[in-house]
Amino acid sequence: MNSRDYQQIDPQALPTPAHSPLPHPADRRQEPRTPRRKWEVFPGKNRFFCDGRIMMARGCGVFPLTVGLILVTSTLFFIFDCPFLVKHLTRCIPAIGGVLFVFVLITLFQTSFTDPGILPRATPDEAADVERQIDDTGNTSYRPPPRTKEVLINQQVIKLKYCFTCKMFRPPRTSHCSLCDNCVERFDHHCPWVGNCVGKRNYRFFYTFIVSLSFLTAFIFGCVTTHLALRAQGGKGLVFALQESPVELAICFFSVWSILGLSGFHTYLVASNLTTNEDIKGSWSGKSGDGVTNPYSQKNIFINCCSVLCAPMPPSLIDRRGFLPPNESAQTSDADIEPPRLNHKNEMNVVGASLHLVLIVTLTNLK
Ligand SMILES: [Zn+2]
Ligand SMILES: [Zn+2]
Repeated sequence: MNSRDYQQIDPQALPTPAHSPLPHPADRRQEPRTPRRKWEVFPGKNRFFCDGRIMMARGCGVFPLTVGLILVTSTLFFIFDCPFLVKHLTRCIPAIGGVLFVFVLITLFQTSFTDPGILPRATPDEAADVERQIDDTGNTSYRPPPRTKEVLINQQVIKLKYCFTCKMFRPPRTSHCSLCDNCVERFDHHCPWVGNCVGKRNYRFFYTFIVSLSFLTAFIFGCVTTHLALRAQGGKGLVFALQESPVELAICFFSVWSILGLSGFHTYLVASNLTTNEDIKGSWSGKSGDGVTNPYSQKNIFINCCSVLCAPMPPSLIDRRGFLPPNESAQTSDADIEPPRLNHKNEMNVVGASLHLVLIVTLTNLK
């Protein structure tokens, strides 16, 4: 294993914790006959469909608008431009457009419906374990817990911040999305256009989506302008030709530049093994001190691209389709619906909550 990586434990391989998020109040009145699934009591702001197989952010943002724009533009293209272009140019145009259109939609849905890499919150048991460990040290003096930890990755000191919502130290490159209320691994950004966070598990789909969308938009834009040029040459004039397909031309004209720019920006990020979050914050730009470089970069564009886009897909850690233990389904109260909060004493003693991280930073490659 490379020193830039860390190991994760598949949650399905672990024994079910004694305490986990709690069931819906409606089920308090009667004992549930069938075990409930974990997605039903998931503490983050997410929506689940198809019995937990599909997940999105609760606020789906402008996701329907994204789908609508792609559908409207492509439909107008296939109805109004393709017949003319097939007649005057080649039959390949609708075929290429169709393949791109299907590819764009598939990658969009994969980005939107995939767990972006959410880290499960620490359970009360895990927090209690930490407290016990701290008490065992015999240190009774009042001492506020450190809010950061430091680890060394490729000779760079990386600070891990403590997340008070998830009650753990965030692994490297993890950030808490305020809109989804989850810590997301290799957090890139929250994208309202796809209605989901973009992180470790769906970044490859997001990148493929914006690149294929660039090709589709540029292709349609090229075809529409060719259509107009041919019509204008045919003697009807450019103004008449423009009136034929104004909507898709306008959509393509305004979207093609922004989407091409976005694709270019993310290509730069992929080649540098950076995230949008790190780029915006300037984490490795050297502003914060001399000699700061991106410790995750392999110093090779090709290897960076492979490690970002082609690395094996890590398992989803939230085990959203797993079953809750039957005794937990019965132990529900109104107060339990709120995300559990640590009392003051616990808050002062959560230093070791990083047990929950399921994170082992390997430092073997240090030179
Ligand atoms: Zn968090
Ligand atoms: Zn989010």
